[in-house]
Amino acid sequence: MQNEALIDHYLLKILEANETTNLTRISSLEEARKLHIEDSLAGLQELQQAPKGLYGDLGTGGGFPGVPLAIESGRKTMLVDSVRKKMAIVESILSDMGLNDSISTYSGRIEDLANEHPQSFTALTARALSKLSVLMELASPLLSKNGLLICYKANVQDEEWDHALSLQDKLGLSLFSDRTLTLSDGETLRRIICFEKIGNPKMKLPRRVGLAQKKPL
Ligand code: SAM
Repeated sequence: MQNEALIDHYLLKILEANETTNLTRISSLEEARKLHIEDSLAGLQELQQAPKGLYGDLGTGGGFPGVPLAIESGRKTMLVDSVRKKMAIVESILSDMGLNDSISTYSGRIEDLANEHPQSFTALTARALSKLSVLMELASPLLSKNGLLICYKANVQDEEWDHALSLQDKLGLSLFSDRTLTLSDGETLRRIICFEKIGNPKMKLPRRVGLAQKKPL
């Protein structure tokens, strides 16, 4: 199957599984093709600028943007989510499609993954997971030098933006790119904000599980 057909097949399987397990709030195929395929691929340009190596999708849910990006980029990929049930379904669909050699799953917290596999990723994505400062804190210990954190955002309030920029030095990250695009419906805006790992964080990371989200820096 061509990449486009593979991605569409994966989406259909997710929507089928979604009838019995909550994987995505989107149930219409047209909406899902826009928000789960087209939107997921919005960050492909940034992913292609990351150094060669392992790519991870943090808080992947039903595998978005991770699976479309993995298929389209051909990168070795790890999908990460703490909800075991979601990861089991995603893994079983990937296995049925013969994709589980190149796309693996990790059922667990991002903080635990960082303790087990520090600095192992050259690229990370995160969509609908947390505010920028939290994404930066969670991603920093997982990224290798010059690795990229690619954040899928919609609106970013000034306060969130300023806070993220103020934490760059502390977290060993530096703003790499910032691009806003419009999806093919002519109205859905997507902002892709990307940080590069430039050095060691100036604090011990990861903090205890849950703290990044419950007590943000
Ligand atoms: N990225 C997907 C998307 O855009 O369709 C799913 C977004 S969903 C709103 C956020 C996901 O992040 C949930 O599936 C949740 O289980 C996962 N998550 C939140 N915090 C996490 C953590 N610390 N470690 C692992 N997964 C986490």
